[in-house]
Amino acid sequence: MERTLVLVKPDGVQRGLVGTIIQRLEQRGLRLAGLKMVRVDRATAERHYEPLKDRPFFPALIDFITSSPVVAMAWEGPHAVEAARQTMGATNPLQAAPGTLRADYALDIQFNLVHGSDSAESAARELAIWFRPEELVSWTRADEDWAFGQSK
Ligand code: UDP
Ligand code: MG
Repeated sequence: MERTLVLVKPDGVQRGLVGTIIQRLEQRGLRLAGLKMVRVDRATAERHYEPLKDRPFFPALIDFITSSPVVAMAWEGPHAVEAARQTMGATNPLQAAPGTLRADYALDIQFNLVHGSDSAESAARELAIWFRPEELVSWTRADEDWAFGQSK
């Protein structure tokens, strides 16, 4: 069982895609464990994207992610990290597989709607930035035996 951080980035919120993004992950069978809307400050954004701080696009990425509210979510399930990233699609929407969120709803490599942690270690680091422990809810989804199967 894994936990991952998903952010609906400012473009996703402004374009009215919060519900669509939640629906895709929810219907995949992942279990929502935390949810909040956040106007992220620069220091927090820089902490979140710290591994990318030397990349040329870093300053523009921080400007973008702090420009307008985001929605932060924790999702749980077997292979939640990989499953969420697969549902999102490749970083560049033009390279994302059809049927993924980024291919279906985005065009730009920066304005690509969503963030998903890239490993269990990243997820733990990022979730600690966005959520206090008591904000993550432990519960049983009624259909999770059917969605998680033998991976539970
Ligand atoms: N990004 C960008 N230009 C690039 C690569 C990435 O603006 O050439 C942005 C994009 O919003 C991406 C984020 O930086 O989602 C983080 O990059 P990463 O390589 O971690 O991609 P992700 O894990 O989000 O697919
Ligand atoms: Mg990444």
